Amino acid sequence: MAGCSVRGCRQPGEFRAPLTPGDFDGPGTWQWLCLEHVREHNAKYNFFDGMSPDEIEAAQSPIAGWERATRAFAHAGGGKGPVWRDFVDPLDAIAARYRPGPRRHVIDRFTAQERHALGVMGLNDDTDLHTVRKRYSELVRRYHPDRNGGDRSHEAKLIQVIEAWQLLKSATAFAQPG
Ligand SMILES: [Zn+2]
Repeated sequence: MAGCSVRGCRQPGEFRAPLTPGDFDGPGTWQWLCLEHVREHNAKYNFFDGMSPDEIEAAQSPIAGWERATRAFAHAGGGKGPVWRDFVDPLDAIAARYRPGPRRHVIDRFTAQERHALGVMGLNDDTDLHTVRKRYSELVRRYHPDRNGGDRSHEAKLIQVIEAWQLLKSATAFAQPG
């Protein structure tokens, strides 16, 4: 058996893989790869399925993604643009724009205000109402003066948590279907 086609690899070439994507039938377009390299090969060709050219570009170069996003933010909304404080973390703002595939609908479940409320409660975007409710009762226990010996130092935080809960419990993302 011939060896794996990848230069420097000494494993047996047991698996047939097309040399170029979309060119599966032509003669002489196959290479033979070992298990590890055929997996790598398949992962490479499937990874970009369903992405737009912009998303592929962003995925291939995180730095290019950052530059593009910075530019887009700078020019959006007549110079104002989406504000960074709408996001828990500036990197989330980049990720929300460039994360490829099915994750995107998770990001879009919440408005910027709701995302801020999730941040107040220390939760991320792929949470559910049960988790929010549970976190809310934990935080109320932690910050409520009646529950920590009359200590009012956490009152501002308690108010934030209550406001966050009021907003999130009626979030569209948590609405029951039907
Ligand atoms: Zn190999």
